[in-house]
Amino acid sequence: MYTLKKLCLFFLVAFVSCETATKDNVEQKEIMTFTDKHTYAQPDESVVTHLDWTAAIDFESKTISAKAILTLSNSDDASKLMLDTKALSISEVLVDGDQIQFSLRAEEEHKGSALEIPITPQTRQVTVHYSTSPGAEALQWLSPQQTADKEKPFLFTQSQAILARSWVPIQDSPGIRFTYNAKVTVPQGLMALMSAENPQTVSDDGVYNFKMVQPIPAYLLALAVGDLTFTSLGQRSGVYAEASVIERSAAEFEDLESMITAAEELYGPYRWDRYDLLVLPPSFPFGGMENPRLTFATPTILAGDKSLVSLVAHELAHSWSGNLVTNATWDDFWLNEGFTVYFEQRIMEKLYDRDYSEMLAALAAQDLVEEIEAMTEAGNAKDTHLKLDLSMRNPDDGVTSIAYNKGYLLLRNIEETIGREKFDHFLKSYFEKNAFKVMTTEAFIRQFETFLQQESTNFDLNTWIYQSGLPEGIKLPSSNRFSEVDEQLTKYMAGAKPDELNTQQWTSHEWLHFVRSIPETVTNTQLAELDDAFGFTKSGNAEVLTGWLIQVVKHDFSPAYERLEDFLIHTGRRKFLSPIYGEMIKTEQGKIMASTIYKKARPNYHFVATNTLDDMLDQQ
Ligand SMILES: [Zn+2]
Repeated sequence: MYTLKKLCLFFLVAFVSCETATKDNVEQKEIMTFTDKHTYAQPDESVVTHLDWTAAIDFESKTISAKAILTLSNSDDASKLMLDTKALSISEVLVDGDQIQFSLRAEEEHKGSALEIPITPQTRQVTVHYSTSPGAEALQWLSPQQTADKEKPFLFTQSQAILARSWVPIQDSPGIRFTYNAKVTVPQGLMALMSAENPQTVSDDGVYNFKMVQPIPAYLLALAVGDLTFTSLGQRSGVYAEASVIERSAAEFEDLESMITAAEELYGPYRWDRYDLLVLPPSFPFGGMENPRLTFATPTILAGDKSLVSLVAHELAHSWSGNLVTNATWDDFWLNEGFTVYFEQRIMEKLYDRDYSEMLAALAAQDLVEEIEAMTEAGNAKDTHLKLDLSMRNPDDGVTSIAYNKGYLLLRNIEETIGREKFDHFLKSYFEKNAFKVMTTEAFIRQFETFLQQESTNFDLNTWIYQSGLPEGIKLPSSNRFSEVDEQLTKYMAGAKPDELNTQQWTSHEWLHFVRSIPETVTNTQLAELDDAFGFTKSGNAEVLTGWLIQVVKHDFSPAYERLEDFLIHTGRRKFLSPIYGEMIKTEQGKIMASTIYKKARPNYHFVATNTLDDMLDQQ
């Protein structure tokens, strides 16, 4: 066992703009002392403020050889710099140009190995020469066959929560921000992109230079290398994708500029200059990742009818909640996600209407209720608190519906209690006041309570944040449009034929609600009839398809098994994989099927997905 010093924010705000720095330093120091259990960094002694990264990408050996030059800010008695690393092979460390003896501690579960480098208070820069391991957890190396175009290999990173350390030796804590420059060499003909200022054309020599002037935490470090092209969508936005997907992508996201404008009208200026999207190959484990300036997105949102663009609204909203005001530790993850879901819904309401966003809200509530039940049944009621305790655990365990949807419901309830105008006023100034800083749950409570006092109004945050499940008497969002869907489903179960149902105006959200609500008593003949009429098995909408496939497994509806297998093998998005596999393992026969499919599919999944599924399916 080891002890971690308190992470003090004094240094972390040292590079925030000068005019506010002094007052803010004092304020932050007073109110925001916190411990991040998932880092070896000791920033009160020495903190990284800038990274200069030079790297060569080798697809043959599946490794990155790199040099990381770290600029430091030290305390008066600093004697060491502590960095996070995971499975890096480190060849040399220089302190202000001189080679020194470093020590790499034994690897601990989840956290990796601490890299301890002796320094003095005067040390300005530390240089680490290293290479990544082929199994580096953040990196996914795809063969040409695993891409959309099937001609060139592809590499992408997924650093959140604590995987940045598997490709860069860094202080991998959401509470520590730094700027960065990078020079990346890739095989000729491929394009490299980062969470930074990006190229729009392929370079002749395979060398790319990047600059990120806004300070970011390590989990927002990102890199993608592939056979990519760019299409502009507006003055400050565009989309990158493989050639075969670029047109569909540009069409799906053509409203991106108006989405950015809608977000700015709600909560203030977009602070990151450009906002581009990168559509990744299907094995990307998440829906999207809010890498600053360049959201990484799953191709499963290319539904063809813009019905899943709320995911883009979500990632865009992170440009405020998460990227601008960042959860201090992964125990405070709900601050990133709950605020973002709330913001996302407000963007969707502005772009469409309240009826539309209420469908999203109702779906979120369904997910939440199910997850709370499952966690409570499994004896994990504490994991339904908004403020988590992820000590000695993988911080990825906190990526549940709680952070997202319970967080959202809390903010929605605040809005309903104190009024939208007041709440918007609070949120706008919250993003402004805390921009490029970190936030603990407790600091948020203090800021919000100060606001309530000024407004002479009341709200009980503590029950929501520190207790299990949902506070009593909470009214969950419901959707009028879903009530209509329920009516049609009842009609069908009472004997109506599919063509007698009134489904003409339905969006994919109504269809999702429909497949989710199919009752236990449905027969396989009825499932076949519904599938014939509405084409669920053939659905190009991954949300609807997932809802349907869960019914398929539940009712052992074998005509859809081929599509089930194909979907599981070619999709890497954990949000879809977990519930489908989860349903399969409920029966002995399903377990065998799940395990057979998983063996074939596993090589296509990112570590983030296999890490969850290996446990669930009891294999590696
Ligand atoms: Zn998010």
